Amino acid sequence: MALNKKSIEDIDVKGKKVLARCDFNVPLDGEGNITDDKRIVESLPTIKYLLGQGAKLILCSHLGRPKGEFNMKYSLKPVAARLSELLGIDVPIAADVIGESAKALAANLQDGQCMLLENLRFDIREEKNGADFAKALANMADIFVSDAFGTVHRAHASTAGVAAYLPAYSGLLVDKELSIMGKALADPERPFVAVLGGAKVSDKLNVINNLLDKVDTLIIGGGMAYTFVAAKGYGIGKSLFDAEKVDYCKKMLEKAEEKGVKLLLPVDTVVAKDFPDPIDGEIEVKTVDVTAIPDDMEGLDIGEKTRALFADAVKSAKTVVWNGPMGVFENPTLAKGTIAVAQALVDSDAVTIVGGGDSAAAVEKLGFASKITHISTGGGASLEFLEGKELPGVACLLDK
Ligand code: AMP
Repeated sequence: MALNKKSIEDIDVKGKKVLARCDFNVPLDGEGNITDDKRIVESLPTIKYLLGQGAKLILCSHLGRPKGEFNMKYSLKPVAARLSELLGIDVPIAADVIGESAKALAANLQDGQCMLLENLRFDIREEKNGADFAKALANMADIFVSDAFGTVHRAHASTAGVAAYLPAYSGLLVDKELSIMGKALADPERPFVAVLGGAKVSDKLNVINNLLDKVDTLIIGGGMAYTFVAAKGYGIGKSLFDAEKVDYCKKMLEKAEEKGVKLLLPVDTVVAKDFPDPIDGEIEVKTVDVTAIPDDMEGLDIGEKTRALFADAVKSAKTVVWNGPMGVFENPTLAKGTIAVAQALVDSDAVTIVGGGDSAAAVEKLGFASKITHISTGGGASLEFLEGKELPGVACLLDK
């Protein structure tokens, strides 16, 4: 996938109607209050830039899963209110998505003004990438801007379909994601180390395969590591195991060897009799060698020796990409491996990139976010990026 895409900085938007797809999918409490406005804040650079350049800005996003039905529980009204506060200007919201209200508001926009459409997913055709819906969105504007990195891996009407009818450019957020992650994958400063974790090996098959073509060292921790340990012939007790993927793991171990890639697996592991219940409840654990996991116990975090091994590899890197926790980090007793990896990223002078999702949450919770080069705003999207997959919301943008 070509990544050298035209951005909003490459064009003159003055007086043009710009349809900007943002990610305003914020968490709401029972009363409809926004509990974390991070996604709105992250959209501000693009919005402020476009307004400053004199665009007539039509903002749009999805929120939650209203499944194609108009449901005020998922209204973007709280987002319009928060945007108005953050921008210090009134951001009116249409009463519909592509109906009379939306069209009238869009038609009356002046240069440097913005408005918000109602939740795109109130229309069933959004997620189905319906051509008539995409066309109706496009008809309101002269230019399309893609700035919702969290949804660029989806081929929806507002993320990709609309680009068939309008010249399409990246916003500043998408541009930043593409340039930092794109460079890491295409032309990384070496040594390039990737750290993968999380529960299931099956979720990351293509990521592992693709990264083995690119990295100098691949570190595998978390629940997914145990299928690799099993593939090496060791007993793993009650640890997470995917019997169908043992052959795949063997192939990946061989591929690493052939390519001269160092593939680091846990050498010791923190085990318990059972998975913690509740997940953050007290738990009795001990640390054992990874070759000596008792039959009746389950590996739930990387051990101390492994933490040191992984941290050393991370600290000697010049580029690090991290996706997925090293253990059941929701539990304080089992979070030590994940914290050790996060700390190693902070301590290294490498370009450090954290994929979205749990690892991003862990880094933020620890207060390390400002010390990481880039925390991706899209969990699923960044994973598909690491897989080397074509992202529909990026592929549809104009090339430079
Ligand atoms: P993922 O969504 O694939 O990134 O996985 C994240 C989840 O993996 C977290 O909720 C962790 O609690 C879980 N996890 C990590 N390591 C283990 C492990 N050794 N056993 C069970 N679950 C794990």
